[in-house]
This record gives sequence, structure tokens and C-alpha cells, in this order.
Amino acid sequence: MGRRQLWRRVSSVPLVTYFKPSGLPLTDLQEARLLVEEAEAIRLKDLEELEQEECAQEMNVSRSTFSRVLDSARQKIADALLNGKAIRIEGGNYEMAERRFRCISGHEWDVPFERLVTTPPEVCPECDTPSIMPLFPPGLGRGGHGRKKRFREGPSGRER
Ligand SMILES: [Zn+2]
Repeated sequence: MGRRQLWRRVSSVPLVTYFKPSGLPLTDLQEARLLVEEAEAIRLKDLEELEQEECAQEMNVSRSTFSRVLDSARQKIADALLNGKAIRIEGGNYEMAERRFRCISGHEWDVPFERLVTTPPEVCPECDTPSIMPLFPPGLGRGGHGRKKRFREGPSGRER
């Protein structure tokens, strides 16, 4: 529970989470593992072109933490690109901007990140049951090693 303040807020998770260079046998392939929050840092800074300060606010971290996450992300992407490594996006220490909860009776509702860190829900707002659980996005979760989830490539790509 004491790790909550370290969570980085992520508002979107990339749809495709595995990239690999063509023409290399899978057995020779090395992987760079990009954390979900690192992908988010790249998205905010390099894609959305936000100022570093805004990025840090979006992710609910200090500027120096954001800067560290961004540097790490760029380093890994450069390494993969120039050294012919695959990139896998998974794991990390992040929290979705919104978390969906479900109670034992099947009611579902969303809890914003801000509320989640201060006052996490204890009962279902509809039926008051304390039997509630958070729903994780498929294949992704905070801090885990992620599940081995691989997306199929387009018609030109060849898997294994
Ligand atoms: Zn309920």
C-alpha cells in the first residue's frame, strides 16, 4: 500500500505492444522491454508535444521523475531501432487514469485515478456490497510482468 505515491498515471495503453525487425530469426532476436509508463511518456512528449511540465502533471509525477522515465524510454527505443531489437511494451509501475470496478452482483462503475489514490471505493455505489474488485485492462496490469500476449502482424509479417 505504501507504493501508491509511486504510481504513474497513464491515460492510454498502446494497442500494439510488440514490434520486431523483419528478416531476423526469432531465436536471434533480442528484446527491449518498454514499460507502459515509458510508452506514455513518449506519447505525451513526442506525439502530443506537450511541455515537460504538462507531461509530468498528466502522469501525476514530478518533473524529474518524468524526465527520467522519458530518458529511459528514448534510450530503449534507440537501442531497439539501431541494434535491431524487438520492442515489447508491458509492465511497469503505472495506474490507469480511470479504473473500472465491478461488484459481485455485476454492477460496474469507473473510479477516477485521483479518487482511487485518496479514497479507494469500499462498497458498490448501487447495492452497497463490499464484494468489489477492480478490472484490469486485458493483458496488462500494474507492476506485473504482463501476460505473454502477442499481437499478430500484418499480412506481410511472419510470426516465428
Ligand atoms: Zn452492486
